[in-house]
Amino acid sequence: MPSVLVVEDDPSIRQSLIEVLTEHGYAVRSAADGFGALREVTQTPVDAVVLDLGLPDLDGGDALRMIRGISSVPVLVATARDDESEIIKILNAGADDYLVKPFSGGQLVARLSAVLRRTSHVPPAGAGAAGAPVAAAAEPLRATVVGELAVDPGARTAYLAGRELRLTRREFDLLAFLAHHSGQVVSKRRLLTEVWREPYVDDQTVDVHLSSLRRKLGERAAAPRYLLTVRGVGIKLVAPR
Ligand code: CA
Repeated sequence: MPSVLVVEDDPSIRQSLIEVLTEHGYAVRSAADGFGALREVTQTPVDAVVLDLGLPDLDGGDALRMIRGISSVPVLVATARDDESEIIKILNAGADDYLVKPFSGGQLVARLSAVLRRTSHVPPAGAGAAGAPVAAAAEPLRATVVGELAVDPGARTAYLAGRELRLTRREFDLLAFLAHHSGQVVSKRRLLTEVWREPYVDDQTVDVHLSSLRRKLGERAAAPRYLLTVRGVGIKLVAPR
């Protein structure tokens, strides 16, 4: 059974999309905002995403690019904006197809099967084949989601709980590097080599930037959430407990 993630903030539209897709044999998961969508896509592989572009937290185009940064899952965009330049932009940002609202359940199911056929590691629902779903091919990680933190090195944007963080260039590079290596302890020496590219700079440079990054993430060294210091070893970015 192919699985679909429905991303829609309007509860009644979301419910009706879930019903239509379930009736047509899809296993449906849902998210009410862009951040929830990123979390879902990161946590469990899904065969296709139906993405509303008008979301409360992330711009739909940004959400799309961030999903693209994590996964090659086919994305069908649902947009209220019937404007050609907008649609071209969406397709260029990596959408596989689009629907202009309001659309019928029949139209949605038809477009979705077409997208799944084209991208086709999975037979569309109702195709009769018992083929096992295959997870989307692994791509090099570009965008990273850790807890409520999302970092997109391509767009050089970072969000915390859906709110864009205002970071200096160096703070962003530092955060992106730590997010890319989340869960691993990274030494200050390594940060100087790979983020600063100046291994002879003093360790304290890293401390200064870490403390300002911490402030922007709303935490303190004494009460860390994302940035854990591992004494004598380095620093580790983790999802808060
Ligand atoms: Ca909406």
